[in-house]
Amino acid sequence: MPSPLVSSQSVAAVRQADAATLADWDRTHVWHAFTQMAEYEPLLIERGEGAALFDIDGNRYLDGSASMWCNVHGHHHPRLDRAAREQLEKVAHCTNLGLSNPVTVQLAKRLTEIAPAGLEKVFFSDDGATAIEVALKMAFQFWRQASPAEPTRQRFLSIGEAYHGDTLGTIGVGGVARFGSIFGSLTYDAIRVPSPAVCRQPKGMTPEDACRRSLEQVAAAFEAHRGEIAAVVMEPIVQAAGGILVHPPGFLHGMRELTRAHDILLILDEVAMGFGRTGTMFACEQEDVAPDFLCLAKGLTAGYLPMAATLTTERIWNAFLGSAAERKTFFHGHTYGGNPLAAAVSLESLAIFEDEQLIERMQPSIERLHERVAALADHPHVGDVRTRGMIAAIELVADRSGPTPYDPSEARGMRSCLAARKHGALLRPLGDNVVIMPPLCVTPEEIDTLCNAAEAGINEVCGG
Ligand SMILES: *Cc1c(COP(=O)(O)O)cnc(C)c1O
Repeated sequence: MPSPLVSSQSVAAVRQADAATLADWDRTHVWHAFTQMAEYEPLLIERGEGAALFDIDGNRYLDGSASMWCNVHGHHHPRLDRAAREQLEKVAHCTNLGLSNPVTVQLAKRLTEIAPAGLEKVFFSDDGATAIEVALKMAFQFWRQASPAEPTRQRFLSIGEAYHGDTLGTIGVGGVARFGSIFGSLTYDAIRVPSPAVCRQPKGMTPEDACRRSLEQVAAAFEAHRGEIAAVVMEPIVQAAGGILVHPPGFLHGMRELTRAHDILLILDEVAMGFGRTGTMFACEQEDVAPDFLCLAKGLTAGYLPMAATLTTERIWNAFLGSAAERKTFFHGHTYGGNPLAAAVSLESLAIFEDEQLIERMQPSIERLHERVAALADHPHVGDVRTRGMIAAIELVADRSGPTPYDPSEARGMRSCLAARKHGALLRPLGDNVVIMPPLCVTPEEIDTLCNAAEAGINEVCGG
């Protein structure tokens, strides 16, 4: 039933809408991201507290996807709220096109200190996809302006099933077919090597063999495309949207050695993995790798505000220096890049990491997550479980022998996650993987609640 308010134009009128009316407008007017609107059922979140979200009817859910992998310290955090309020007392936004502000400078300085060595330059933008596009464009332009220049280096090598965003520039290097394939003719084609994840190798292959074999494929591609590749772009340690594909140890390190040997730039996409997700501040620390570009977004503002950063080296920066007339400038920018409000929250988030020693403090919750998910590996409809840091994927299958996947049209992953809501957890699947990726502040008890809800959802949809 359309509400009589629908025809009204005034803000005061729409503000009076009740919950049912809002749900109705949500279905009618809001086109949700990655959502089949013909099947969408509104759920309106009104507020958050710690790892929990509350809907408009007051129901409480644990935020099992960290509000799309970006929330770090929990919702409505007093220190983050205060940092935003205090910055609002000064200025909410000013451009960073040829202009600056204190808090954005402070954030840039602190990021260069915590990032791997050599990443001294910070380009701010506003979301993960743009952080990647910035790196791709900088790498491309670098080879035209480097001395000596190598303008034939125009292509990118990426990893199968990679996800780097869904703009035209990032689907060119993306490899998740169900997201990007129809737009292929609108973008460029990357050189691709298959994902090195053990779960993507022939059955029984060891991580060592998977690593060696994948690095051989990379080396072969480098040889076949000698002088053509500007940069490699990859998600280090875990490919997130591809289905929580955990890389074998040594792959990242080996990739850094190979790219260095061929003087190919390395772009690491830590949009999802950065800021503690894998159990260290940045995933690349785990293999002692410093890339040429480090792309950050999601957790950068602890999940509060849109902001992204592309960190790079002096070598890259220097190739862009010259007089304005030389046209070596990086002609790229986003209106809200370096936004002071986002920077203030981001800087406070880094302070919380320090003051609360979050990386150490979260280890018991990580252990609990891994234990609980490992126990689900024996479930009759679980084909595989994969964990790393505060990330877990439970892969659902029709039959474990084989294994035989479910028919994707049955949407078992999505239905299991929807069923888990009744048990107090908001989860988002990746295909038939039920994914648990909560804010880093979760307690072991909250991990239990999330895992219990996931299990209940799976049992309801797949049978126990
Ligand atoms: C989410 C994500 C992106 C895209 O970030 P947006 O802010 O959604 O544009 C890029 N890379 C990875 C690894 C991601 O998980």
